[in-house]
Amino acid sequence: MARKKQFKAESKRLLDLMINSIYTHKEIFLRELISNASDAIDKLYYLSLTENRQDVDRDAFEIHLDVDREARTLTIRDNGLGMNKEELEENLGTIAKSGSLAFKQKLEEGEQSDVDIIGQFGVGFYSAFMVAQKVVVTSRKYGEEEAYRWESNASDGYTIEPCEKEGWGSEITLYLKDNTEEENYDEFLAQYEIERLIRKYSDYIRYPIRMEVEEQ
Ligand code: ADP
Ligand code: MG
Repeated sequence: MARKKQFKAESKRLLDLMINSIYTHKEIFLRELISNASDAIDKLYYLSLTENRQDVDRDAFEIHLDVDREARTLTIRDNGLGMNKEELEENLGTIAKSGSLAFKQKLEEGEQSDVDIIGQFGVGFYSAFMVAQKVVVTSRKYGEEEAYRWESNASDGYTIEPCEKEGWGSEITLYLKDNTEEENYDEFLAQYEIERLIRKYSDYIRYPIRMEVEEQ
């Protein structure tokens, strides 16, 4: 068993705020994860151009969504730059991003509604925890052999372990929260709802966003 690590204090507070004080528009988590996937592809795109890497097929860049209804998981996969162990640790264990910090301050001021605040800032990766009880990130960095699995259920930190992964890029799997009277998280497994969210928030993304269509 990998050792559990705690989030940095500041990140933990942001995480708690995000989970406990945003009631509306939890759906924006998808915008955030797709935008991260797109950023990661941008980075590899740029690298492949500037360093003339022949092993990167720029026509094959895509963001892929997978739904597993039985397991109640939603997976967002990209073939972008990926992260190594140190980067998983640094990027997902800490929140030092200006947007997130400003977001937290606005939330704490309590003068604006959730929706206004969410609209103003990119709330980032941690927004996944608004809908997921567990998040697993499997990533392999371009040019590296080893892949790593970052896993967290938010409240008691995260673990990072070596794992197998074919090809470079990242895969973010959300284990959705149990449904409550107020919130039906299963909607994030429905194809029409996912398509609606992509049209609403991720229309500007310049890579193809693909999804396996299950037989209904
Ligand atoms: P931001 O996108 O504003 O930097 P996020 O909280 O959304 O902040 O993401 C934090 C960091 O985690 C990103 O800057 C990036 O380095 C890393 N990251 C997140 N998702 C991915 C991904 N799919 N592929 C590679 N790196 C990622
Ligand atoms: Mg982001």
